[in-house]
Amino acid sequence: MAREKKITPMMQQYYEVRKTLPANTLLLFRLGDFYEMFHEDAEVGAQVLGITLTKRSDYKMAGIPFHAAEQYIGKVLKVGMKVAICEQVETPQAGKLVKRALTRILTPGTTIEDNQLDSQRNHYLAAIEYDKAGFSLAWIDLSTGEFRIAHDSKPDDLLPVLVSIDPAELLLIEGTQENWQKHSHNNPVFEELIHFANSRSTSEQPAFQFDCDSGSQAVMEILGVINLEGFGIDKTHDALGCAGALLHYARETLRSEPKNLSSISEYSSKASLLIDPATLRNLEIFKSTRGLREGSLIEAINGCKTAAGARLLEQWLIAPERDIPELNRRLDSVEQFFGNPMAATELQSTLKSVRDIQRILSRMQNRLRNPRELGGVRDTLAQIPELKASIQEVASADPADTNPLDGLTNRLHELPALTELLDRALKEELPSKLDDGGYIATGYDPELDRMLSLTTDNKVWLADLESGERERTGIKNLKVKYNGAFGYFIEVTKSNLSLVPENYIRKQTTVNAERFITEDLKVKEKEIFHAEENSKRREEELFLGLIEAVLEESAALKETAAALAELDVFCGWSEIARRWDYSKPELNDTDLLDIDQGRHPVVEQMLRKDSQGLAGSHAFVPNGINISASNNQIHLITGPNMAGKSTFIRQVALITLMAQVGCWVPAASAKIGVVDRIFSRVGASDDLARGNSTFMVEMNETANILNNATESSLIILDEIGRGTSTYDGLSIAWSVIEHLHRDTEAGPKTLFATHYQELTQLDKHLNRLENYSVAVKEWNDDIVFVRQVVKGAADRSYGIQVARLAGLPTPVIDRAKEILEKLESDDSTVTVSSPTPTPVAKPRKKIKVAKDENQLGLF
Ligand code: ADP
Repeated sequence: MAREKKITPMMQQYYEVRKTLPANTLLLFRLGDFYEMFHEDAEVGAQVLGITLTKRSDYKMAGIPFHAAEQYIGKVLKVGMKVAICEQVETPQAGKLVKRALTRILTPGTTIEDNQLDSQRNHYLAAIEYDKAGFSLAWIDLSTGEFRIAHDSKPDDLLPVLVSIDPAELLLIEGTQENWQKHSHNNPVFEELIHFANSRSTSEQPAFQFDCDSGSQAVMEILGVINLEGFGIDKTHDALGCAGALLHYARETLRSEPKNLSSISEYSSKASLLIDPATLRNLEIFKSTRGLREGSLIEAINGCKTAAGARLLEQWLIAPERDIPELNRRLDSVEQFFGNPMAATELQSTLKSVRDIQRILSRMQNRLRNPRELGGVRDTLAQIPELKASIQEVASADPADTNPLDGLTNRLHELPALTELLDRALKEELPSKLDDGGYIATGYDPELDRMLSLTTDNKVWLADLESGERERTGIKNLKVKYNGAFGYFIEVTKSNLSLVPENYIRKQTTVNAERFITEDLKVKEKEIFHAEENSKRREEELFLGLIEAVLEESAALKETAAALAELDVFCGWSEIARRWDYSKPELNDTDLLDIDQGRHPVVEQMLRKDSQGLAGSHAFVPNGINISASNNQIHLITGPNMAGKSTFIRQVALITLMAQVGCWVPAASAKIGVVDRIFSRVGASDDLARGNSTFMVEMNETANILNNATESSLIILDEIGRGTSTYDGLSIAWSVIEHLHRDTEAGPKTLFATHYQELTQLDKHLNRLENYSVAVKEWNDDIVFVRQVVKGAADRSYGIQVARLAGLPTPVIDRAKEILEKLESDDSTVTVSSPTPTPVAKPRKKIKVAKDENQLGLF
C-alpha cells in the first residue's frame, strides 16, 4: 500500500502490465535504449543473465541494451522461463508519459524467432490430457505450422510419439502433476510422465482451456473451415481439447492469432511402428546415452544439406511407418538418386543455396519480417527450375511408367511471376533489419527513386557547404558532421575559433572543439530528415506489398518447401547408402526378418573413424539373421562379455527401424516383415538418475514388454535378470522366455542375449527357440574376439579371460581361476585366503532340465 502512494506514473504502468503475466515470466520493460527489469524480476534476471543488479531506495533494477536483447532472451528461455516484452508503442515526447504495451511473451515452446531456434530440429509445444477416456495429445510447431493431434485409450501407445517429439514446452490441466504424483507408485506410465514434465518447461492451465467443444471450434476457426472432415478428423475428436489449449496459449504469447496454420493431421499409433521411451533411449535414436546427438542413429543417417530436410528426417523418425506403399515410395525415391550419383551430388549442391522457406514463411505470416528473409524466398525460388530439371533427368533415366519422383516434382512450384517480382524489386545484398532501409532496388519504384535522389542531392549540398565554408572562413579543418542527438552541425577546433563568422550559432562545446549551426543548415536539415523519412516510409510500403505478394502464394510455397525437404532427405540417404554400402530393404507383411550381413549403422561409422590411418584394423564384422514369429521365434545368444552380443541385437532393431522410415539399410540384403513395435531391455544406466534401482527399472521394462508385445513385435533383451542374485535372475530370465514362447503358433520375434549358460538347454523343449553365440577364438590362455554370430550355444563364458583383457591384476586373475575350478567341481568349500575374495555369487549348481516339458523347471 505504502508503495502505491509513492509510485510514479511510469511504475504504475509497469505494475499494470506485470500483474497480467503468467508465472515464471520475466518482464522486460522498455525504457529508451534499454529493457529494464524491476524487483524480483531484476534479481532473477541479474542471476540468470549475469548482469549487474542496481539497488535503488525502493526497488531493485537490472537492464539490458535493447539491441542485444535477443541474446539475453535466449538465455532466459534456455533455463525454462518466459520473457514478456513491454514496448514503447509511440514516439516519446518530452514531459509526456510514453504509451507502452505488452507486445509478445516469448516462451520455450512458442518462440519463432530465428536465433532462438535450432534450425535442424522441430520445435514443439505440446498439450496432454489423461483421464478415464484415455490419453489425448496435441502438438504444434509454431515455427513451421505443423499441427497434430492423437488420442488413444492406452497411454502406452502414445508415449512413444510424445517422448520422440521432445517438446520444448508442455501444457497440462491444473492439478495434473499432483494427480500423477498420487498415482505414480510403481506405475511406469505415470513415472515416465512425471519425469517428462519435470525435464522441460511445463505450465498448468485452467481446465476450461482444454474443453473439447471450444477446442474444436477454435481449430475450425483458425483453419477457416466449417468441419474437420477434410483433414480426416471428426469434430468430436477427444484430442481437440488439447489442440484448443495450444491455440489459446499461442494466442496469449504471440499476442495475436497464429496466422501460419493451414492444416491439422491425426497421428495414429495403429499406423506407426511404436518404440517405447526406454527403447528410444536404449537404441540411442535421437540422442546417445550421454545425451548427445553424436553417436545417435539420427546423426548417422542424416545426410541433409538443408535445415528443413533435417527436420523432416526427425519427423519420420518420430513416427516410423507400417504403411508399405508409403515406405516403398521413399525407398524407391532413394533408389533413383542412388542410381544417379552425379545428379544427386549436383542436386545436393544446389540445395545448399536453398533457404528455410517453412520458417521464413511462418515468421512472415506472424509479422516477424525482414528484408534478408524476403531475399531468402527469392533466392530459393531461383533454384527451383534447375532443381526440377535435374530431378527430371534422374527420373527419365528410368523408363518405368510412373516414377516415384513424379509426385515430388509436381509439388515443386516455380512461381515465375513472384520470382520475377522479387528479382526486380530487391537489391542483391539485403539487411536483416527493416529499419536499416536500402533494400529496394533502384528502378523498381520511380517515386522511391525520386526521394532517394533528393537525399543524394542533399548530401552533395552538405559536401559543398563544407568546402564552401572552409574557403569563406579560411578554417582548413572545418567539418560538417552529424550525430543522433544534435543533427547536423559545423565543427571548428578551438585554435580556429577566432575565424568563426558571425552567422554561426553556438550549439555545443566539446573538449577540443565548438559546434555551430547556421540558419541555412537548419532549413536543410529539416529537408533532409523529411526526405529520409519519406523514402523510408515508401520503402516500407513497398516491402509490405512484396510480403503480401509472397503470402498470397503461401500454399504453393509451403508445398514447395515440403517437397524440397523430401528431396533433401532422399538425396542425403542415397549418398549415405553409397558411402556406407547400404542396400534397399524389401518390405513385406510376413512374420519374417531376414538380414544378410547386417551391420550396426552407428558402431560401423565410429569404428571407421577410430581406425583412420590404421590399415583396416577395426572393420566392422557383418552378421546376418533369419528369424520368424512362427518358426524360429526366439534366438538365444550366448558368448562372453565384450563379444558383440548387444551390438548384434541392437543392429537388428536399428535395421528394422531404418527400413520402416524408408531408409536403406547397412546390410548386403534385407527382407523385412513390417513390425508393429520394437521393445528392448538393455542397459539401465540412465535410469539410475531417476531414483529407481537398476533391478526395478529392468523389471518394469520387462513387464511392459510382456504385457504389450504382439506376434508382429520385435524384442531385444540383453542380460535380463542381471540386477539380482544369480538364482533369481536365472529363474526370471527362464520364465520370461517361456512366456514369450507361449503355447501358441507364433510369438514376438525375440533376440535374447544372456550370460546364463543354463538357458541354452531350453532349445530341447521350446521348439521355436534356437541357440546362437558370438564366436571367440582361444589362443593359449587368451581369447580373441571374432565378432561372428554362429549357430549353437557358447560352451564357456570366458569371464576370467575378459577380466584379464580389462587389466585386472594377475594375482586376482589367478585366484579367480582357482575359485572357478573349485566351484565348477561343485566343491562349495572354497578356502578363504587372505585378503578375502570378492564375494562370488552362490555356487553354480548344475541345472537339470526335465524330460517332460510339463515339469519344466529348476531342481
Ligand atoms: P557384449 O554385449 O557381448 O558384451 P558388445 O556388443 O558391447 O559386447 O561389444 C563390445 C565391443 O565390440 C563394442 O563396443 C564394439 O566396438 C565391438 N564390436 C561389437 N560387435 C562388433 C562387430 N560386429 N564388428 C566389430 N566390432 C564389434
